[in-house]
Amino acid sequence: MVKANIPPVAGLLALQGDFEKHKAALRALGAEVIEVRTEDQLEHVDALIIPGGESTTMTILMPDSLRSSLIQFASSHPVWGTCAGMIMLSTTRSDSRVRPLGLVDLEVERMGFGRQVFSFEGELRLSERLAEHERPFKGFFIRAPRVKEKSKELEVLAWLNDEPVALIKGNILLTSFHPELAEDDRFHRFFLSMIDKSSSRKG
Ligand code: GLN
Repeated sequence: MVKANIPPVAGLLALQGDFEKHKAALRALGAEVIEVRTEDQLEHVDALIIPGGESTTMTILMPDSLRSSLIQFASSHPVWGTCAGMIMLSTTRSDSRVRPLGLVDLEVERMGFGRQVFSFEGELRLSERLAEHERPFKGFFIRAPRVKEKSKELEVLAWLNDEPVALIKGNILLTSFHPELAEDDRFHRFFLSMIDKSSSRKG
């Protein structure tokens, strides 16, 4: 069977948070989308998005069995964390209410752009790895995490002024903003291209 003809299956971790817009963006690009709430459902997806929401609530709602399956899954499949999802994928230690998965060496400050700033929009500069990178991307930041310290192995894919706001290392993609709100599908396309390159594709 020719794998390229089978639509990729993207999972959306649906414990809590904003996933409808991600779903629409992925479907518009031809992917199948499954909501993931248990470790068994991970067996049916090629990749996973941990959406924005509230990392303290995700911590409470994530049983240990799902936590360890997610860590295992990320070793061989693309995983993308947006906003709260980025916090969950990091090694952030500064807030004891959040128990991150520790998949990339990254410390963020929750709501690091100022607690009084609920949300803002910023023009992002993109790395050459994104399609049409000369055109800026509109970044929507909602109580967003701010990068404090990151390992050199994390490559920057987007900057707000000179600060990293999108990063990648291997299978792990992180965005501190909400690309699903931008009406610009370049990050979703980039994520689906990570599935195509990943050898663990189902089907
Ligand atoms: N401030 C939230 C948290 O710390 C993230 C906000 C978001 O995902 N939009 O989890």
